[in-house]
Amino acid sequence: MSETIITLKDVSKLYSQESDAGVNGINLTIDKGSFVAIVGESGSGKSTLLKLIYGSLAPSSGDLIFKGEHIPGPHEKLIPGHDAMKMLSQDFDLNLYAKVYENIESMLSNENVREKKQRSSEMMELLGIQSLADKRIVELSGGEQQRVALARAVITEPDVLLLDEPFSQLDALLKIQLRADLKRLNTELGITVIMVSHDPVDGLTLADKMFILKGGLLIESGQPAAIYENPAHTYTARLLGNAFVLPAGEAKVMGIRSKGENVMIYPEWVELKSSWSSRRYEIEEIFFRGFYEDLLLVHKGIRIHAMNTKPGAYRKGQGVQVSIKRYLEFD
Ligand code: ADP
Ligand code: MG
Repeated sequence: MSETIITLKDVSKLYSQESDAGVNGINLTIDKGSFVAIVGESGSGKSTLLKLIYGSLAPSSGDLIFKGEHIPGPHEKLIPGHDAMKMLSQDFDLNLYAKVYENIESMLSNENVREKKQRSSEMMELLGIQSLADKRIVELSGGEQQRVALARAVITEPDVLLLDEPFSQLDALLKIQLRADLKRLNTELGITVIMVSHDPVDGLTLADKMFILKGGLLIESGQPAAIYENPAHTYTARLLGNAFVLPAGEAKVMGIRSKGENVMIYPEWVELKSSWSSRRYEIEEIFFRGFYEDLLLVHKGIRIHAMNTKPGAYRKGQGVQVSIKRYLEFD
């Protein structure tokens, strides 16, 4: 049985009376020990929502509850931010000329020096940075620094770790590493992780639950696979996948009769066939993606995407037949 750790009831934060920028009427619950991703386009209110949960931003209205108690806002505390939560800042906040172990240990009090050493050592081991203990931060790579920052954030055993676009500065390899680190902290330490990302792949790979924000509204939430397969909005499908959306009229030309105004299709729902048909698509462009190709196909001015898992099998200008395995209708 899962236990709720955070509840938001009708929470709004409006930055000014003239515009509706911020977040509006947010209701949500977060399970203890879960990994949550807040996803949405730029300006949709992700950072605002994260700061509200952390308590560093006061809501205009509504209730925020952590373990059954009101989350104090910035004016109710000397140091803004909930004591049981840690927000990992993008600039890491490390003492550059101090050693790795010093940076980590300094988060704990001096009351029990032996325990302090023990805990830091465990944390370094968990994040695979034990061999770096005596190095100064300036001597480390960006990825190593990030691990030290993570160790610092979790050594005080916060209940909740909050991250605002932690991957934005990282190259692809470091991204994969950090994803794995975060998942490990989540599962091995049982920390509830709430992560904001503009790259939905982060959310899809890591999260137990995703919250989709659009224009300050929480438009849908649920398990990544469920939301991806059956999005309630075309916005979500476009955000999470390479979905393309066609008006019903264009879909009809493709042989799809839709009662809704729009039809949404993911490229992996488009099957390529080499047999001849009158409904032939021309391959207009081929985008190489490593283990697959994204094919841009055109038929009577209608453009669709198909995922080709056999790179090199087609060439530009070639005609292909497609069959749509699945599509979703939207009003
Ligand atoms: P996201 O993190 O999803 O990009 P934000 O939460 O930062 O979005 O911002 C949501 C909306 O609120 C945007 O329209 C943004 O311009 C506005 N906003 C954010 N912070 C402030 C602020 N301090 N003052 C006024 N408007 C703000
Ligand atoms: Mg933001």
